[in-house]
Amino acid sequence: MKHVGIVRSIDTAGRIVLPIEIRKELDLMGEDSKVEIIAKGNEILLRKYADSCIFCHGKENLTDFNGQKICRKCVEGISKV
Ligand SMILES: [Zn+2]
Repeated sequence: MKHVGIVRSIDTAGRIVLPIEIRKELDLMGEDSKVEIIAKGNEILLRKYADSCIFCHGKENLTDFNGQKICRKCVEGISKV
């Protein structure tokens, strides 16, 4: 993960604007783009949200692996390689 160190203000409604460079790099330009908000101690982590398998885009039997979603079928396929 790249540490960017960009400082942004939070408006009165709690919103921030993600820099366009980061949105482009992470393919977060579409209207349906989502991020997951994770609070850890005094840190807030924004992670690109995915609700489907990174390989086949299936939405059933998903497992989280290092922040990525992988379906059971693809896990089984990978384990045979
Ligand atoms: Zn899959």
